[in-house]
Amino acid sequence: MTFLDELHAALGAAMSTDATVLSTLTADKSGHDSHSIPLALVTARSIDDVQATLRLATQFGVGVVPRGAGTGLAGGAIASAGQIVLSTLAMNRILEISAADELAVVEPGILNGELNAVLAGHGLWFTPDPASWAISTVGGNIATNAGGLLCAKYGVTRESVLALKVVLADGRLLSLGHRSVKGVTGLDLTALMIGSEGTLGVIVEATVRLRPVPSAPVATVGAWFDDVLTAAAACAAITAAGIRPAALELMDAAALAAIDAYLGEHLSERGNTFLLLQTDGAASAGEATAALTIIRSAGGDAELTADPAEGERLFSIRRAFHPALEAQGTVLIEDVAVPRSALPQIFAEIARIGERYGISIPTVAHAGDGNLHPNFVYMPEADGSVPPTIWTAAGELFAAAIRLGGTLTGEHGVGLLKRAWLRDELGDDQFELQRQVKAVFDPLGLMNPGKVY
Ligand SMILES: Cc1cc2nc3c(=O)[nH]c(=O)nc-3n(C[C@H](O)[C@H](O)[C@H](O)COP(=O)(O)OP(=O)(O)OC[C@H]3O[C@@H](n4cnc5c(N)ncnc54)[C@H](O)[C@@H]3O)c2cc1C
Repeated sequence: MTFLDELHAALGAAMSTDATVLSTLTADKSGHDSHSIPLALVTARSIDDVQATLRLATQFGVGVVPRGAGTGLAGGAIASAGQIVLSTLAMNRILEISAADELAVVEPGILNGELNAVLAGHGLWFTPDPASWAISTVGGNIATNAGGLLCAKYGVTRESVLALKVVLADGRLLSLGHRSVKGVTGLDLTALMIGSEGTLGVIVEATVRLRPVPSAPVATVGAWFDDVLTAAAACAAITAAGIRPAALELMDAAALAAIDAYLGEHLSERGNTFLLLQTDGAASAGEATAALTIIRSAGGDAELTADPAEGERLFSIRRAFHPALEAQGTVLIEDVAVPRSALPQIFAEIARIGERYGISIPTVAHAGDGNLHPNFVYMPEADGSVPPTIWTAAGELFAAAIRLGGTLTGEHGVGLLKRAWLRDELGDDQFELQRQVKAVFDPLGLMNPGKVY
């Protein structure tokens, strides 16, 4: 029997070769499309389904692309001809919620927002909050080590994972980590899986750490500055003062202008750079007041509110960023990170690169953790791809971030789109070591071929 015959015999209706279905698997939300149709889609409903699929893939030497909701921005879940896609989207049950241990055991396909909606009823919260929380899976969040607005205070996904079940390319099922908060037995293979972008195995179950929903009150500060470098310096001063905002978001002049155009507002008239800060919990009022003092002494025109509706009004400016950019055209959303003290320097680099290439690079920064999303708005090539000049400009951005002690990706991952720069950041020795580590898990190179390494 052929591979597809065997797969069908083992998986039945969970396996599809429908051309319309397969054509949706050549892209994710990065804007990249392989235009290369894979062999089949397996929609796994159980760990057994995943094991059966991977055993056959190993037997026939077929590459496997794990896929959650396909919201990735690095091309990690994009499939190509000769490969199969293994979707964990239908493995979406909550298996356990333990208030006593502040943990939940979930299947990988549950959406982050669905999990949190259920947890809210228990007064609990899974803190990783990518802006895609409503549409991305917990498995995808773990595979990309996703972060969000609140991770400066509450940590990235890595801080919220206690244990994982993972199926290796040859079908073996591993149980990694512990239900206990602490645990240092042997190498931390749980941590190795987090952010591995489907290159080491398929995550089939996760024991995630929960927190109590933060107590009110919440205080929100909106501030306008006349230039982004001063605002970036104010952000660095806020974190250096030991203040831990739940969110600290910075939008530069090009970003605010796009938001103005999108919302029909005139926000830029108050100052061309917008800073949003939110504090929560018992210390919230004191932290917000201390931040306000720093912002004003740096020259910011700032307002502080404890009123939820007013706070929401200020937050809606930040939320308008992505739709405002999408309204301008096709966007390459970049994702560098630098030490927080280097925020002014990286904004200066962005301005320099924009001038050099004659392009506008609207940028929003999670300033609380030094992660920036410079957005390159471009006219696609005839085949829909990103023009080479844009990649050259992005390459200069990556080099600047690395030079400043940062990284070419803070939360989106390497996937397909940043492979060319991986060695620059890791160096030859670490790059080779990482490839050797992958080979231990996946000696035939079948897990997410062509991604990351
Ligand atoms: C509007 C928008 C906003 C976004 N905002 C953010 C943000 O603020 N922060 C952020 O970090 N990201 C953000 N993203 C990117 C994306 O949503 C995240 O990377 C998310 O974690 C991907 O989850 P997913 O379920 O869509 O995974 P997919 O896109 O399906 O897959 C992503 C990667 O994970 C692997 N993978 C998926 N499931 C598994 C599994 N079960 N086992 C092993 N590997 C697996 C895939 O192979 C792929 O490499 C955003 C995306 C959009 C469209």
